[in-house]
Amino acid sequence: MLEGSEHPNSSAIAAFRAIVGDRWVMDEPAALVPYECDALFHLCERPMAVVLPADEEEVCKVLRYCAHHRIVVTPRGAGTSLSGGATPVMGSVVLGLNRLRSISILPEAGQALVGPGVRNVMVSEHAQAHGLFFAPDPSSQSACTVGGNVAENAGGVHCVKYGLTVNNVVGARLVDGSGSVLDLSGSSLDTPGFDFLSLITGSEGLLGLITEARLRLLPVPPKVRVLLAFFLTPRDTCDAVTSIISAGIVPAGLEVMDNASLIAADSYSPGLRLRTDAGGALLCELDGQSAEIESWTEQIKAIFKQHSLLELRQADDQHERLELWSARKNILPALLRTARDVYVADCVVPRRLLGEVLDRINQMAADASIEVVQSFHAGDGNLHSVLRYDSRIEGEEERAMKLADQIMALALEAGGSISGEHGIGTEKLHGMCWQFGADEIDIFAQIRKLFDPHSILNPGKAIPTLHRCAELGGMHIHEGQMPHPDLPRF
Ligand SMILES: Cc1cc2nc3c(=O)[nH]c(=O)nc-3n(C[C@H](O)[C@H](O)[C@H](O)COP(=O)(O)OP(=O)(O)OC[C@H]3O[C@@H](n4cnc5c(N)ncnc54)[C@H](O)[C@@H]3O)c2cc1C
Repeated sequence: MLEGSEHPNSSAIAAFRAIVGDRWVMDEPAALVPYECDALFHLCERPMAVVLPADEEEVCKVLRYCAHHRIVVTPRGAGTSLSGGATPVMGSVVLGLNRLRSISILPEAGQALVGPGVRNVMVSEHAQAHGLFFAPDPSSQSACTVGGNVAENAGGVHCVKYGLTVNNVVGARLVDGSGSVLDLSGSSLDTPGFDFLSLITGSEGLLGLITEARLRLLPVPPKVRVLLAFFLTPRDTCDAVTSIISAGIVPAGLEVMDNASLIAADSYSPGLRLRTDAGGALLCELDGQSAEIESWTEQIKAIFKQHSLLELRQADDQHERLELWSARKNILPALLRTARDVYVADCVVPRRLLGEVLDRINQMAADASIEVVQSFHAGDGNLHSVLRYDSRIEGEEERAMKLADQIMALALEAGGSISGEHGIGTEKLHGMCWQFGADEIDIFAQIRKLFDPHSILNPGKAIPTLHRCAELGGMHIHEGQMPHPDLPRF
């Protein structure tokens, strides 16, 4: 820019400063760097500015200005999305909700009323004094925000028993793409009209900005037990999951780690003495009344013995439980420490097919010469294949991304879905054209238009245009056209 010349966006920046105050608008290049991407690190784009409103009224004013001037807005919480949803479109305004951080616990209602910028973990920390907790617990919970959780319909370890975010939100306030407020706080379990609350949960910032959420809190269970079981093969580990669920047992968490995960976690925390000779391990958390936990433990032990159990550990006190859980929680940090590039391919498959799908992914990874590590929310059938590669080596990133596409296609073939809990963002737009037909994509687009008539909210994310699907070959699995015909059918 020439010295003394006016910044092309200067009138917009001045307007934002007038609304939220100078301190809360950033447009210096260095200040914008942390906002150039989310946790899908390899896609970055520079926004025009970052605007941090203090309350719903300021959110409305900023959005009305943007709607009037057709300025694109990228909503953002903590930026931990793994699918590019919070990555700005070039020249857009990043609207960060982090300053809206009020928390009220309403023990008599078993609810919490929170601002979207509250970090997930804070809800349970505040609720604990009343013997309550908030169930959805993404592994990123110490950083990610409730607004981001609602926008992504986040899952977590405990969702196998307590449901996803959508099952634990009872109300919300939303500012739509015209800057108008919609109050979706139902006062009873059933409300007349369409279920807008479910519609906005998982809408990835395309239908509006969540400015408040009313969350369901649950009583802290009287007893919790964690079992860590090591098995001979990955298939044994996955089959144990199917057997537990088939027996009518309802675990509070059921996480699988493969051999590569165990090796990674062991290198990070050798003190845990993990069995690195095991083909896989299963972390099973049980919560509830003591008698039920004892009875389920006996049944589970019998099941494990039928599936080549190598070793079983049990933890009842909180310190020991957290120690066992740290095996699972340390895997991603351990992988990030040792790999140049890491990509998490998230998809969901029917639980009973977990073992078969896992074997096939491992075979596809071997064929592509890409290292794959599997640690995932098995109770939900939610696979997280972590691909490790080095983008400096020619062709390696392309092979990794092709493998990620094959995993999506395999999930669809198995009757699952292209995304388990990480959303679509920019990452899986093309997969939407595989999972849905033209009519369905058109309905998504029409709904979006109702909430955001000027298409300023997070364009280019989550819902592809039909034109884009056509560009991508219009592949639609239900019409028989396989994205990767070489894959074996289920
Ligand atoms: C190490 C790691 C582990 C993870 N583990 C899990 C896991 O176990 N389960 C899981 O589900 N996810 C997981 N994630 C993904 C991510 O943490 C979740 O998607 C989380 O919900 C994102 O919250 P956020 O505040 O970071 O949102 P952001 O990343 O800032 O935004 C996510 C999306 O929501 C939109 N958005 C944000 N705030 C608002 C708002 N107030 N109103 C409207 N739209 C908004 C954004 O535009 C974007 O599309 C993990 C990520 C990492 C890095």
